[in-house]
Amino acid sequence: MSNKFHSTVSRREFMKVMAMVTGGVGAMAAVNPAFHDVDELISAGAVMQKRPWWVKEREAHNPTTEVDWDVIKRPNPTNTGQQTEMWAYYHGQARADAASAKGAEYAKAKIAAQAPGYTYRGQALKTAVTTSWSAYVSKSWAGASTNGTWTKGGGATYKGVATPADRGEPKWNGTPEENSHMLNAYQKYVGAAISGYGEFSSLDREKLLCTNVKHNAAKKFIIDDTADTAYENSTALAVPAKNQMYHLVHWEHMSHEMSRAAPAMGGRFNGSDFVATALKPSVYNFLRYMGYQMIGDGGDSNYPFIEAAVANLTGVAESSRNNVYSLTPELGPIGRIHSYITDMPVAATHPIDAGMFKFCADCGKCARACPAECISLAKEPTWEIPDINGKPNLMHNRGTKEFWSDGAACRMVRTELDGCNVCWGNCTFTTNKGAMVHELIRGTISNIQIGPLNNFFFRMGEVFEYGAGTHEGGSPKAEEWWDRSFPVFGMDSTVTSFDGGYKK
Ligand code: SF4
Ligand code: SF4
Repeated sequence: MSNKFHSTVSRREFMKVMAMVTGGVGAMAAVNPAFHDVDELISAGAVMQKRPWWVKEREAHNPTTEVDWDVIKRPNPTNTGQQTEMWAYYHGQARADAASAKGAEYAKAKIAAQAPGYTYRGQALKTAVTTSWSAYVSKSWAGASTNGTWTKGGGATYKGVATPADRGEPKWNGTPEENSHMLNAYQKYVGAAISGYGEFSSLDREKLLCTNVKHNAAKKFIIDDTADTAYENSTALAVPAKNQMYHLVHWEHMSHEMSRAAPAMGGRFNGSDFVATALKPSVYNFLRYMGYQMIGDGGDSNYPFIEAAVANLTGVAESSRNNVYSLTPELGPIGRIHSYITDMPVAATHPIDAGMFKFCADCGKCARACPAECISLAKEPTWEIPDINGKPNLMHNRGTKEFWSDGAACRMVRTELDGCNVCWGNCTFTTNKGAMVHELIRGTISNIQIGPLNNFFFRMGEVFEYGAGTHEGGSPKAEEWWDRSFPVFGMDSTVTSFDGGYKK
């Protein structure tokens, strides 16, 4: 059914539908000029990194999610919905204790029934794609670290490629604009669909740098104004601040097609993390070759910033109704964010407005599909964070105006149901981009932002059966996936390309 929509709805027909839905006057007048030469347009002023033509750039530190910088404090990520302690705190110890066993039973029953996505090959994929061979090198906060077993067995400590000093050459000396431009090209080549940059400013020092690592309150992030090189000891991860430092944010491209195989294959599209596995050492060595640092391990436990926050502030993404993901204009919620600090001077990218956070107010499809009912169905975002079962929500940092989720319920229900990610696969923005009509819809969403039209668009997605399955309805796309022909890695990597003829 979805193919019918792609092949039979032309731009002209789309405009006719628009006219019927909107009464034909204001909205059409607003949107029509914007569609002139839509194939060729890119966002005005996008000198640093080309973005689709409907993406508008905003001022620094002013994302579409409202921020009260007087209220906001450095976040403490100690409490997250991933912790069983939080499940027990909000939903009872007995339920938290039983969640894993319940999930295993759920999976066993599905496997016994050979339900879609629980077949032999599905199990092979789920097991293999998230299992890597143990590596002897990994990214550490300040550089690379070598597995102790490897060195004890006689292996050499790995530091990375030769630096300019090792080679007897001067370090690279580009302008910030040249550096961002160069990194856009390189990072896309090694897996970053979208890159963001910013100065590590006084706001970052006072409001954005996490106080401590995620699951260890005793290990602090500190700023050392006397140091020019990052370091780590038993109690601290230090940001060197003798020189100006900068943000480096990556949106890693991941598979839309696999996201639609949820819930049976829930999480396999981004749980594999194989893009980050290639991207991280490649960027680390690239910067090292040029004489600069890449600070941060890019892992899930030691991130120095709430990653959605820096993605928002550097214009990589906008917030969404759902606190578990952000939305990019190009790829919707499908992908993964990792952020680092570097001393290579880069020109900042600014927050964007593609109308997506506003659209969420009129949509709510993810919240209706969520088996945990943990995504807010509020009509508008709020500054206040609602309590969960009569207790204050400790899993969010105050100071932004958002829709607020219960992360503990999400994680616990995902465990009880042997995986989920129904929200990602079903998000209205989880569409492929090949069809012209999607360009028109996204341009309309960005340019006119009116409720009834937004409502029409998300209903259209439902009619044409975009999205993934649900726990009640099963996972039909988990089995269809094996029979269909998709791009390499299940990713349309031409989505973020504007040159080289890929849009023709
Ligand atoms: S992963 Fe599942 S439980 Fe969690 S927010 Fe998404 S739909 Fe809800
Ligand atoms: S499904 Fe709708 S409300 Fe939910 S994140 Fe996507 S666009 Fe926003």
